[in-house]
Amino acid sequence: MKTAEPIGLYIHIPFCRSKCPYCDFYSSVGKEEVMDHYLAALVNEMQTLRRVSPFLKGPLPPIGTIYFGGGTPSLFGGKRIACLLDTIASRFSVTENPEITVEANPSSTDAAFLSAIHSAGANRLSLGLQSAVDTERKALGRQSGAKETSQAIEKAIQAGFSRLSLDLMIGIPKQTPESLAKSLSFCLSSGAGHISAYLLQIEEGTVFYKRRNTLSLPEEDTQCQLYFQLCETLRDAGFCHYEISNFAKPNEESRHNLNYWRCGSYLGLGAAAHSFLFGRRFYFPRDIQSFLDGHVPVDDGDGGTKEEFILLSLRTKNGLDFADYQARFHEKLPQAFFMAAKNKIPPACIHLTEQSLSLTEKGFLLENEILAELLSAMPEEKSFHI
Ligand code: SF4
Repeated sequence: MKTAEPIGLYIHIPFCRSKCPYCDFYSSVGKEEVMDHYLAALVNEMQTLRRVSPFLKGPLPPIGTIYFGGGTPSLFGGKRIACLLDTIASRFSVTENPEITVEANPSSTDAAFLSAIHSAGANRLSLGLQSAVDTERKALGRQSGAKETSQAIEKAIQAGFSRLSLDLMIGIPKQTPESLAKSLSFCLSSGAGHISAYLLQIEEGTVFYKRRNTLSLPEEDTQCQLYFQLCETLRDAGFCHYEISNFAKPNEESRHNLNYWRCGSYLGLGAAAHSFLFGRRFYFPRDIQSFLDGHVPVDDGDGGTKEEFILLSLRTKNGLDFADYQARFHEKLPQAFFMAAKNKIPPACIHLTEQSLSLTEKGFLLENEILAELLSAMPEEKSFHI
């Protein structure tokens, strides 16, 4: 694989104050002592790359973006994150002006944390708002209210953060167009230049899954209404719907996530962190103890297949660029793919030009069905290395 292209570095911080009833991310309630051991294990892996070395088919490319996700990185604390950033700066080649994002929960975001991570180089903060309506936040098991989020935003700006992202959720139990309007108005007045908006999914193994028959979830029609309301409000406020779940003001797109959607390479460190490097996917198991015990990542096979490239590209506003596809795979898309796009997908769901295929906002809503049609027109892939 020819790549001196910068890669993303993802660090998973699998600790939370308590488990939210809808959450399927890997995290557990964090104890200080375990967090210290976890920090030491991450630093050790960064310094030696011992466990990921079997997957490195050459020198590690320079790092262009760094993302601390979780779990709750803010609970991990400013000193530990600063220590990791110092280790990254001394150990790896990092491009100029890297984008460095830290996810934070308003209830564990104070001035000392913000100042520590900003001084260490973090330049983008992603706050988990979910809803600005306190009854909805409570239903989601969130400990802080909209007031704490406002205070966290204020402190972040004071600490020097100019790039802020807020997470928003639609399809929350008892959510209505009126309550979503309040959350959207909160987002717009916060000054955040980036909004990630997800439809609540009821995942197996969560508390919500057990209670799924008693949750007052909005009906499918209402969910669609909420989605279009979200798109319209953010569009009117100058946000671009640049990915199926992400909206940004000009130049505020998440560079780190764009790399994922462009099928770019990345290294993930920490329990449950996934990597895609030198055409290969691998991941650390969802198990903190396993990471502390020094276990090696699990090989997840070839990545960057044609199917993946199409699937990830169609998540973005720019969609699938046919020249990019041809440059990457040294062949054109098959005619059957275009026939499926023309004959099987409702015209209101796609933009098809000579150069590219992308989904409209209506198409984003039907993404799974559209992808199933398009991908079924592709010849079966055996194995593909880039
Ligand atoms: S704070 Fe975030 S990662 Fe932690 S349990 Fe809640 S939703 Fe999951």
